[in-house]
Amino acid sequence: MKKLLSLVLLFACTDTSANWTGSQWDVMGTRATLEFWCKPQDNRQTPCAAVTHDIRAEFERINALLSPWLPDSELAQVNDQAARHPVPISAEFMQLLQRSAYYFSLTNGAFDITFASAGALYDYRSGIAPDAAQLAAAQQLIGFRQLVLTNDTVAFTRDGVRIDLGGIAKGYAIDRAIALLRERGIDHAYVSLGGDSYVLGDRRGRDWQVGIRHPRDETGVAIRLPVSDIAVSTSGDYERYFVRDGERFHHILNPASGKASKGLVSVTILAPHGIDADALSTSVFVLGKEKGLALVNSLDDISAILIDEHGKVFYSDDLAPPGTPER
Ligand code: ADP
Ligand code: MG
Repeated sequence: MKKLLSLVLLFACTDTSANWTGSQWDVMGTRATLEFWCKPQDNRQTPCAAVTHDIRAEFERINALLSPWLPDSELAQVNDQAARHPVPISAEFMQLLQRSAYYFSLTNGAFDITFASAGALYDYRSGIAPDAAQLAAAQQLIGFRQLVLTNDTVAFTRDGVRIDLGGIAKGYAIDRAIALLRERGIDHAYVSLGGDSYVLGDRRGRDWQVGIRHPRDETGVAIRLPVSDIAVSTSGDYERYFVRDGERFHHILNPASGKASKGLVSVTILAPHGIDADALSTSVFVLGKEKGLALVNSLDDISAILIDEHGKVFYSDDLAPPGTPER
């Protein structure tokens, strides 16, 4: 369970108008926040409470599909059976696997949903991590090439392979929420699931202010971003972790080692879609500063803000203000 939002929405000038509807609830192992401008008097529009209800239902539906903790989820079924025979999967699940395959190749394997072959050996709440022998065994099971995809089935090449869509699922859910809001005639909204968010339109005349959490101060905000019509995702090493003998064991794993990725402590990605912001925040975290920034700078419409273990902040070329000190 997450300790706090990694992105903190800042209400510098809180609008108390009755037409701003807001709610927060727990889902997908994290905290959901929804704020939107609702015009209940407009007959063409679904009532505000129904909009909130629909978004909640959609997040629950996606959780039921992708949760590694629910034995009946499509993901759990695949993990259970795919080493024995090809498992028929929904078009939606296939779309997420295809997107994951895309990011696996774009990042030379830094983003890899089979990280879970090692990831399943960690229990962050109980402070459990695999030993060297367990990690060595898990190495044989990590690699997207362990997956055999047809048009509508997935199989694993061997027993013990595990997948987890935790690096992409929340961004996908955010995109679904924004699509639902748009369909219902909403043009001003903020929606987040933990560190993954989207800001739709503006705050009626003002920009939304999204804050990047200070990685070592739960209540502090490191950077404020005025944004609109964009997905903002932050991956941080403070979301799920424990410390043993001075070593931080956290939830973003380098697939090459099966161990927590070192060097960066926070990566924020701005992108047109949540699914890409989410996958890339995890990817850049693993790639590290040089390779991560090089990747972001090579992509259209993607921006990044990185914080390293010394608290130093780095920006992608499109964000870097003139005269920024050398990276
Ligand atoms: P969160 O919003 O849950 O903090 P992040 O975007 O920071 O998510 O991604 C972390 C999650 O991604 C982990 O909890 C895990 O489910 C998954 N993950 C960890 N390492 C990798 C990896 N190398 N490739 C793909 N997914 C990963
Ligand atoms: Mg992510």
